[in-house]
Amino acid sequence: MEKYIIALDQGTTSCRSILFNNKGQLLASEQKEFTQIFPESGWVEHNPKEIWETQYKTLLDLINNNNIDIKQIDSIGITNQRETTLIWNKNTGEPIYNAIVWQDNRTSAYCQDLKAKKHETLFRKKTGLVLDSYFSGTKINWILNNVSGAKEMASDGLLLFGTIDTWLIWNLTNKKIHATDISNASRTLICNIHELNWDNELLEILEIPTNILPEIKDCSADFGHWNYKGVDIPICGVAGDQQAALFGQCCFEDGSAKNTYGTGCFMLMNTGSNAIESTNGLLTTIAWSIDGEVTYALEGSVFIAGAAIQWLRDGLQIISTASETQNNAMNSKADDLVFVPAFAGLGAPYWDMNVKGGIFGITRDIGINDLCKATLESLAFQTRDVIVAMEKDAQLNLNTLAVDGGACINDFLMQFQSDILNAQVNRPITIESTALGAAYLAGIKTGFYDIKSLKKNHKIDRTFQPTKDLKLAKNKIINWDKAIQCLIKLHSNNE
Ligand code: ADP
Repeated sequence: MEKYIIALDQGTTSCRSILFNNKGQLLASEQKEFTQIFPESGWVEHNPKEIWETQYKTLLDLINNNNIDIKQIDSIGITNQRETTLIWNKNTGEPIYNAIVWQDNRTSAYCQDLKAKKHETLFRKKTGLVLDSYFSGTKINWILNNVSGAKEMASDGLLLFGTIDTWLIWNLTNKKIHATDISNASRTLICNIHELNWDNELLEILEIPTNILPEIKDCSADFGHWNYKGVDIPICGVAGDQQAALFGQCCFEDGSAKNTYGTGCFMLMNTGSNAIESTNGLLTTIAWSIDGEVTYALEGSVFIAGAAIQWLRDGLQIISTASETQNNAMNSKADDLVFVPAFAGLGAPYWDMNVKGGIFGITRDIGINDLCKATLESLAFQTRDVIVAMEKDAQLNLNTLAVDGGACINDFLMQFQSDILNAQVNRPITIESTALGAAYLAGIKTGFYDIKSLKKNHKIDRTFQPTKDLKLAKNKIINWDKAIQCLIKLHSNNE
């Protein structure tokens, strides 16, 4: 009987369950979107119960639609949108508030306050992160301070905090296991990435009680079992989505890097056992830990990438599917239109939450095709900004970029990325690197995969080489830089 691993990929806009064989081939998948809740400008929430139900439905559909005998499932790996924060009642399983999504900037003022109190360096040194609303810590503080009775419930030991991995593990194990992995923990602003534990000093500053925190484990570890039809299936691989993607792309060596084009863009570079401190606005984070051996990474995040495409579809309603943008862009002749989709401030390397977006260079003849092109280009420009910063920190030149994520199937985008980076872009056959990474982490634990032979599985679908004339690419980069500086001047309070 052939055996499989199921990866649960809990993304920002949808839940997926994906079936992999022991060659790392993707055999089948199920996907379901869930509701995005926008209660106020800059706020983004998810209903935790809807996330769990959606995820669970895709898991059962995957098993049933593919006639899988439950005994064929070797193990489960989990990967998830990171930083998204929820707190629930451990007796009832009821969340006390919606999950506050990573994109949500309601705690920006609180972060400014913490900066004014000169806490930034301490957080940076211990967590590798910047004091920003993006990370879980200030979101936990917000829930505890704004949900009536929450603080009292926490002191009565009734509450549990978790990022989405923890929420899924807790539900899958029938409320038995309250745990997270070190890669997810490293995104919370309360985990010391050098000592690998929750940090009491930071917890005190953010007024977070220790009794709500999950246990931190390696990424390949025992996270309990999902019992289905009397069979115990081990959950033994967990990593935040971006770290999982780095693992799934087999970026195992120092200096290897990948960029994921999803709702946001996430660029990660493996820096081995070195936690490189960035001087260029990047984050230092834990890539993974296996058998107690920690691998670090440098990361640059772009908040709004595919989300800008979704805005064209759902907000402006000028396209009906994301994939249309490829043809639209190819049919546009406009080269001066610049769109900076700073819907929730600017992430790396600028880190300015007050900046709002802008569209520059509009003339009477600008149309839908041109706006699609400028939107796709904005994903590539934002990625380039991060890569430039990363090259400075790591003191090297990246000549090949491994890509994945939903939007990397867009050929126009990949070609443009290669053009403005003047570097090769490699798109693997399995662009579900995130899910693959989670499956690998689980399979390494059970012996289903051998880490030494994973690279053999890694096959390239298409390579993009720079083709455009360098002058055009250069001019476009200059225009982008000007647009960014203009928006910073217009909106920033940072000076
Ligand atoms: P996440 O895991 O963050 O939910 P995915 O990796 O599933 O994201 O990617 C989905 C994102 O990619 C969406 O924001 C969507 O707009 C964008 N996207 C999907 N297909 C395309 C395409 N062909 N061209 C451009 N963008 C796309």
